[in-house]
Amino acid sequence: MRILDPHIHMSSRTTADYEAMYGAGVRAVVEPAFWLGQPRTSVDSFIDYFDALVGWEPFRASQFGIRHFCTIGLNPKEAGDPRLTGVLDIMPRYLEKDGVVAVGELGYDSMTPQEDHAFAAQLALAVAHELPALVHTPHRDKLAGTRRTLDVVRESGIAPGMVVVDHLNEVTVPEVVDSGCWMGFSIYPDTKMDPTRMVAVLRDIGLDRVLVNSAADWGRSDPLTTRRTGEAMLAAGFDDDAVDRILWRNPMEFYGQSGRLDLDPTGQADAAAPAEFAGNSIMRGARA
Ligand SMILES: [Zn+2]
Repeated sequence: MRILDPHIHMSSRTTADYEAMYGAGVRAVVEPAFWLGQPRTSVDSFIDYFDALVGWEPFRASQFGIRHFCTIGLNPKEAGDPRLTGVLDIMPRYLEKDGVVAVGELGYDSMTPQEDHAFAAQLALAVAHELPALVHTPHRDKLAGTRRTLDVVRESGIAPGMVVVDHLNEVTVPEVVDSGCWMGFSIYPDTKMDPTRMVAVLRDIGLDRVLVNSAADWGRSDPLTTRRTGEAMLAAGFDDDAVDRILWRNPMEFYGQSGRLDLDPTGQADAAAPAEFAGNSIMRGARA
């Protein structure tokens, strides 16, 4: 089983997670920019974070045979903070970088006017940079939030096929299925979606434009729920080709629209370290 996890926050995970993920078949990940739990108080903190997403974390992943890509964005939880509106101004230089395959995650948390502004501005950046957009749907008031999200996407003029609307469930997916947008599902051990419910959704809506991810953030989560979903699909009668489509070919197709997803079609990762870290003595020491 080859797996491209299309939404996983590796900055919050350990090296043991990377090893377990490789063992489970994960050969590539997309790490969306998000919040750090503790609110950031300045744009400079975002610069350091974005630098880690395009530099340090891909190097860390490469130690374990996993290719690491990322998305760059001002996340919904911090988009309402007036100290951080300047993040939108520094984003363009990151959106030009090789490992950046989308804008995001962006969207609504509390649906405030400040969030409206950041949402629309970032969709405009996605259009300007010809990149896909990863849109988070709010965890509270989810149905209304999803409807409003789709309205903003339509008003932005971005092609629906360039957008994934993420963190969907059985209640919200009917809103998105006819929109032309991709549908993302975050599979958790005991909240939101689980593998069994995901298989039931796949039976219902089919395999087109569906992405399954483990999210794996600061809360209780499991970086192997992609694999567990693949196994649940097989147990329910889906074949290997269907599993490969959900866990590898679909995320390849979606993020491939960036033109930057230079992955070997066999799923073999290029484990060579990026040149800028090749002589990094700290990392050599850490591996000794
Ligand atoms: Zn996320």
